[in-house]
Amino acid sequence: PSKGELLLDAREVTRRFGGLIACNRLSLEVRAGEILALIGPNGAGKSTMFNQVSGVDVPTSGKITFLGKDVTGKTSREIARMGMSRTFQHVKLLPTMSVIENVAIGAHLRGNRGVLSAAWRLDRQEEKRLLAEAAKQIERVGLGDYMFVEAGSLALGQQRIVEIARALTSDPCLLLLDEPAAGLRYKEKQALAELMRKLSAEGMGILLVEHDMDFVMGLVDRVVVMEFGEKISEGLPEEVQKDPAVLQAYLGG
Ligand code: ADP
Ligand code: MG
Repeated sequence: PSKGELLLDAREVTRRFGGLIACNRLSLEVRAGEILALIGPNGAGKSTMFNQVSGVDVPTSGKITFLGKDVTGKTSREIARMGMSRTFQHVKLLPTMSVIENVAIGAHLRGNRGVLSAAWRLDRQEEKRLLAEAAKQIERVGLGDYMFVEAGSLALGQQRIVEIARALTSDPCLLLLDEPAAGLRYKEKQALAELMRKLSAEGMGILLVEHDMDFVMGLVDRVVVMEFGEKISEGLPEEVQKDPAVLQAYLGG
């Protein structure tokens, strides 16, 4: 996709869990080369929205279009193959395995069911291909020097970047990052922001869930703010930051 092209178009997405409406008619768009932040207090429905978009979960109603195709109800594997990749809120690296093994295994596991079924089916050719792809993405995110280091020995900020490298192995045009900056130190957040800027400059669309307003300011192009499953504000970071509804949601009413 060329810059500015519409990648993701989620329309009126609703997800109910029994009596709870975790997402209520939420719409959002992401274009190639754009960074969109989905922000809001804990429990607002951000991860739920990610799950609907990436096919981990199926919306109760609404429509999700990716690259012009209706993907509502498609599996996460099908959607990943089309060029959407995501990270999860909690780091899931195998701490005693090397960075390159973690990235290669992540590439292999994507869409597969379990670690064991995947491990048994690796032939030599496939292993070589996965390791080469992993090495390429580790270089791309700037962790080339750490390729053969145990993943568990890296700082948390570097581990998050390893997860991004893992998500990049499917060559996505849209990347979904669920709270990548959570728990990171200032310097680590800066490194992460720099990587996101680099990827978006290459034309990648990025949808980012974030909790921390300060991290989002100066990084993203647009912000969508959620509270209790609803979109309460949308716009440029500077605009959203001044919106009384947003201040109210963050400061508590
Ligand atoms: P956020 O990521 O913004 O913190 P979530 O999307 O994780 O929020 O959760 C939104 C709401 O939906 C919360 O009230 C949460 O408890 C509820 N929820 C999320 N997933 C499920 C589920 N699988 N079953 C029932 N309730 C859920
Ligand atoms: Mg969440």
